Amino acid sequence: MQLLGTPFDQLAPALSALGVPEVHASKVFRQVHHFRAPLADTPGLGKHLAPILDLAEPTTVDIVESHRSSDGTERLVFGLADGKQVEGVLIPNPIGDRVTLCLSSQVGCAMACAFCATGTLGLARNLSAAEIVGQVYAADARATASGQRLTHLVFMGMGEPLHNYEAVRDALSVLFDSHGRPMDMRRVTVSTVGLLQKIRRFGEDFGGRVQLALSLHAGTDETRARILPIAKTVSMAELRETLLAHPLPGSRHLMIEYVVLPGVNDAPEELDALAAWMDGIDGIVNLIPFNPFAGASFRSPTTEEVVATLHGLRERGVPAKIRWPRGREAHGACGQLMLAKGASGGA
Ligand code: SF4
Repeated sequence: MQLLGTPFDQLAPALSALGVPEVHASKVFRQVHHFRAPLADTPGLGKHLAPILDLAEPTTVDIVESHRSSDGTERLVFGLADGKQVEGVLIPNPIGDRVTLCLSSQVGCAMACAFCATGTLGLARNLSAAEIVGQVYAADARATASGQRLTHLVFMGMGEPLHNYEAVRDALSVLFDSHGRPMDMRRVTVSTVGLLQKIRRFGEDFGGRVQLALSLHAGTDETRARILPIAKTVSMAELRETLLAHPLPGSRHLMIEYVVLPGVNDAPEELDALAAWMDGIDGIVNLIPFNPFAGASFRSPTTEEVVATLHGLRERGVPAKIRWPRGREAHGACGQLMLAKGASGGA
């Protein structure tokens, strides 16, 4: 059992099965997740420590490389126990000491989105819940050492998070648990290309309190299929139906991700179709200028093209904003994570 990725409600029965009274579960969880200290040093376990140590498999996630951009963004390479690597990005908030971690859910990715470097790697394997939590703790220690606070998470690094749903769900359960150092659910965003069943489960499991971001990138099925292979099996009509049923408590809304690909998805007819699709959906379109990578078959839009797309959407009544790239020079911007050095995620 990897304690780093075991939710509290699974830990207590697991310890009980070893003959360890359930009352010790909170001590163990607190040691691992609040103090983030060695299990062997847990106070008050007495004779129960030995069987717990036998049960616990260590999880190591270390930062083995880092590359900082001049805008303060830092691309991190996380080394895993089997020698594989994944990437994450620490993104400082423009004001104050808060930072966001963009983290990975898989080694590589099976979704093969045409604008994404990770998609060229193929899927090597899923990350465990412990490896997902391990990225957060390693990045948190890094941020703390720099006088910053890791307050926000976005699952937009390597991998399709809902393709590894159980591990992502368990990792979030650990990270939100009040026995540890609970993160604010409202500050976590999980992105998906549109795995319908998993979107429904995600909505049920977290009641819509964790932000859902949909990688849409087109206004029509035809254009979407040019960019995202999943669009050949999941239509925009099905996506729309699923999103309309997604719970959005309080002031929550959906985030709709749209990589601007000039000449591909920015034509007036495409924006008309997107506006019609968005009608009735409580969401904001995030326009992301395409970030280039070696071998990509698209070009980056000019600033004018991105701004024209923004105006085009707003004129059609669609709430939209631009997410200007950060971390490009360290290859840490959206869609650029591909382990340029020491690549290990290839299929
Ligand atoms: S955009 Fe996300 S889902 Fe698509 S290939 Fe890249 S990592 Fe995978």
